[in-house]
Amino acid sequence: MITLKNIQFGYNHHLLFKDLSLSMSSGHIYGLLGKNGAGKTTLLKIISGLRFPQIGTVETLGRCAGNRSLEMLKDLYFLPEEVFYPNLKIKEFVKVYAPFYPHFCKNQFDETLQQFEIVSQDTKLSHLSLGQRKKVMIAFALAANTRIIIMDEPTNGLDIPSKSVFRKLLAKAATKDHVIILSTHQVRDLHSLIDAVIILEQGKILLNASTEEIVEKLAFQQTIDATRVDNMLYSEVNSNGHCVVSVNDSHIESQLDLEMLFNAAIANQDKMRMLFEIIL
Ligand code: ADP
Repeated sequence: MITLKNIQFGYNHHLLFKDLSLSMSSGHIYGLLGKNGAGKTTLLKIISGLRFPQIGTVETLGRCAGNRSLEMLKDLYFLPEEVFYPNLKIKEFVKVYAPFYPHFCKNQFDETLQQFEIVSQDTKLSHLSLGQRKKVMIAFALAANTRIIIMDEPTNGLDIPSKSVFRKLLAKAATKDHVIILSTHQVRDLHSLIDAVIILEQGKILLNASTEEIVEKLAFQQTIDATRVDNMLYSEVNSNGHCVVSVNDSHIESQLDLEMLFNAAIANQDKMRMLFEIIL
């Protein structure tokens, strides 16, 4: 559904991506992880046709993303971390923007707002708190019913109950026809939701794998003595001893810990690429 081939992209003289290739298929909720400045937002914009690679091709929904064709735009919703809010009431915002999305469902929007405890659509967006505005935009993004939903740091600004509402809503929205991409630093907010992980590091893909494949190849465990773990990739001390990531030689599946995965991947880049057959 999304294919980037050998792209090169830079801002002014700062080269961000060099020969980056990536593909994403429908039926997945991808978690896009990377350090600050790794290029996550830029990558999401390239996929949405808002930034244009200097070299290489980007195909989104079978079309060249940079052309921003109507066919593509009506089936793609990109929710940036910081959204531009027009000076409109919620109900006016829906009236103006919903027609761009042929599958927009007003009932779904109303229900989602209720779940987020936003009762009146007569309020101006500018009079809402940051978190409330985020909820309106998430409700709109889901009600647009596009095949691709991209959200940059969606849980930033949400309170604890709203984060769990968000997870439930997104789990419902994910079907075999959808691609959902969530860029986040708050891995704990989304770890139960995502079923594929992409890690960006130094302008390259470090990992692109389903959570199934990850737990097949890597083991996550808690142990008193980390030195006794074979093929260890990374460990962290905590109150119960050590939290360890190792190569899964026993082929017993363990519980994926995204934060540990990220740290293990950053600390063992060559080995990680070899294990997951990521070709540079
Ligand atoms: P991330 O989302 O992973 O934090 P970004 O994609 O926002 O990373 O930014 C990647 C790099 O590109 C950073 O070094 C950032 O400063 C730079 N950058 C982002 N947007 C612009 C821009 N419009 N002009 C120049 N440099 C930019």
